[in-house]
Amino acid sequence: MKTNIADLYFEPLIGAEAIDKRTTEIAKQINADYKDRTPVLVGVLNGSFLFTADLIKNIEIPVEVTFTKLASYYGGTSTTRKIRDDFDLTINIKGRDIILVEDIVDTGNTIHYLIDKLKVREPASITVCTLLLKPKALESAVPELKYIGFEIENEFVVGYGLDYKELGRNLKGIYKKVS
Ligand code: 5GP
Repeated sequence: MKTNIADLYFEPLIGAEAIDKRTTEIAKQINADYKDRTPVLVGVLNGSFLFTADLIKNIEIPVEVTFTKLASYYGGTSTTRKIRDDFDLTINIKGRDIILVEDIVDTGNTIHYLIDKLKVREPASITVCTLLLKPKALESAVPELKYIGFEIENEFVVGYGLDYKELGRNLKGIYKKVS
């Protein structure tokens, strides 16, 4: 069924149940990989707020959560390549195991920017967990990318935290733009 958001139409791509199942699987993997450690989950706002919340509910090892805010799309449906640094981490990450939680990795530009920015603060490790990845759009490899929810085509998506013109974040599933 088509959904209308602002001036565009979207159709279902990934349902809420599939997201829930995959999120639980990733959390289990994190539980195993970070056993005996206390990682810091860093949610990259705004898009990852729901994914970060659902992920942490299924993490059973001791874990901290914090957020940083970057903006890179400016309300359109394609990347502007401009990154706006809205707010920084409020904690000291030196010696900590960091898991960056992203909604989507498209060209990889934003995540490279964030990794480079955080690396100089000398964390023990940085890995990236993204709900969505557009492999065909990725411009250079992201070695830190360890946890991937779903790989999708080069299409514009909304829902489950992701927006179009700030709308659609409240949709329970992921929807793709109807071309
Ligand atoms: P990148 O820097 O990897 O090209 O883009 C990453 C950021 O662009 C994401 O964090 C997200 O904010 C935005 N983005 C990329 N693809 C999409 C998309 O299909 N839908 C939405 N709503 N945002 C996207």
